[in-house]
Amino acid sequence: IICNKEDVIKAIETHNVKFIRLQFTDIQGVVKDVEIPVTQIEKALSSGIYFDGSSIEGFVRIDESDMTLKPDVRTFAILPWSKDKGGVARIICDIEMPDGRHFEADPRYVLKKVMKEAEDMGFSLNVGPELEFFLFEKVDGKATTTPHDYGRYFEFAPTDLAEDIRRDIVLTLTDLNFDIEASHHEVAFGQHEIDFKYGDALTTADNVMTFKYVTRTIAKLYGLHATFMPKPIAVENGSGMHVNLSLSKGDENAFYDPNAEMAISETTRQFIAGVLKHIKAISCISNPLVNSYKRLIPGYEAPVYITWSGANRSSLIRIPTARGKSTRVELRNPDPSCNPYLTFAAILAAGLDGIKNKMDPGKIMDYNVFELTKEERVERGIDTLPSTISESADYLEKDELLKNTLGVHVHDNILRLARAEWDAYRTQVHDWEIQRYLNTI
Ligand code: ADP
Ligand code: MG
Ligand code: MG
Ligand code: MG
Ligand code: MG
Repeated sequence: IICNKEDVIKAIETHNVKFIRLQFTDIQGVVKDVEIPVTQIEKALSSGIYFDGSSIEGFVRIDESDMTLKPDVRTFAILPWSKDKGGVARIICDIEMPDGRHFEADPRYVLKKVMKEAEDMGFSLNVGPELEFFLFEKVDGKATTTPHDYGRYFEFAPTDLAEDIRRDIVLTLTDLNFDIEASHHEVAFGQHEIDFKYGDALTTADNVMTFKYVTRTIAKLYGLHATFMPKPIAVENGSGMHVNLSLSKGDENAFYDPNAEMAISETTRQFIAGVLKHIKAISCISNPLVNSYKRLIPGYEAPVYITWSGANRSSLIRIPTARGKSTRVELRNPDPSCNPYLTFAAILAAGLDGIKNKMDPGKIMDYNVFELTKEERVERGIDTLPSTISESADYLEKDELLKNTLGVHVHDNILRLARAEWDAYRTQVHDWEIQRYLNTI
């Protein structure tokens, strides 16, 4: 394990590393990367590397464009697929302003701030995300939406054609210090899931970013296209990123209480209540694309209604059966197109709000909510998630807690990007409209 500058230098020598990729994530959750030759590493580690922040989406601040990448040495890792070409390593970076202060719109910094707040309350957050993705065929080097295989949930060879690819992704992630728990074919044709062990929120957000580009890179080596697009095929399940959450207090899981109803603590209930309260605004961050909302419809195992339950998978929040150390809540609306730093920050802030204000999550809905009639839902006061990015932007705009959590700069930029995304979409005339209206109207 790499802990300091000396460890990095030693690892570089041992593994004959020639290049280092300095990485960070923009507001939209896209990895940015600048490569330096190993000759620059001393300088990068001691004073950082300058870059033009005004060219990065959501960072724009012309007056303060000279920003610095500060490598976080604990994220040093050798990229396994580059070994025989002369080692390439990556380090994830924090972002500083010219005067040495943290850049307020650096997603890692936004998350660290909320983690600090949790720490001040005696808690630390554990996060275990389940990323789903599709493998599609390529034709003439271009991605299609033709699934690579016609396997279904938990299927295996010969129907599942991706065993070797998943295994290769797993081995690569293991080389990158991931602790893999399982990998399997998912419900849709060409769809897969690989699960890794939960960790603290920052490490896990870093891991989500690494997971996505490892998966894309390995798929490419097999001549395939991997995508984390939430809903690539209308009539199939979309790809989600369920987020499993628990709070630790010292060595204890603060969500576990063997003597309480359902063996979950009062803290768990309050945390859930906070997340439910803010979920419409959180959606703008955890489901950031026009396409995200095409996943959140009835019939495809994705949540629509704002409810919580025990093991029942029709709810937005589910409490998996495991107790003791594994006591956790599973939030099911996020999808893998989100920025994981900002998503975890928003969820944690909402949960802490619930704890601070001793909120009550209301009645548990331990039945399939989708089977209720509209009247029954109204009667029981069951609300729904926003159905478009435009709607969730309106909720995020009004959410003071999340505005404070994200900082004004990120809050403004997320709203701007969400609305630009919606405008770009609603000002197009889509194929569906032509098919439906051209000949009949
Ligand atoms: P599912 O049954 O929903 O498919 P998975 O087994 O695919 O769940 O994923 C469960 C995730 O929850 C894993 O990433 C696992 O590491 C994580 N997890 C387990 N215990 C905890 C915990 N106490 N806190 C947070 N996450 C946890
Ligand atoms: Mg799973
Ligand atoms: Mg699983
Ligand atoms: Mg799944
Ligand atoms: Mg799950």
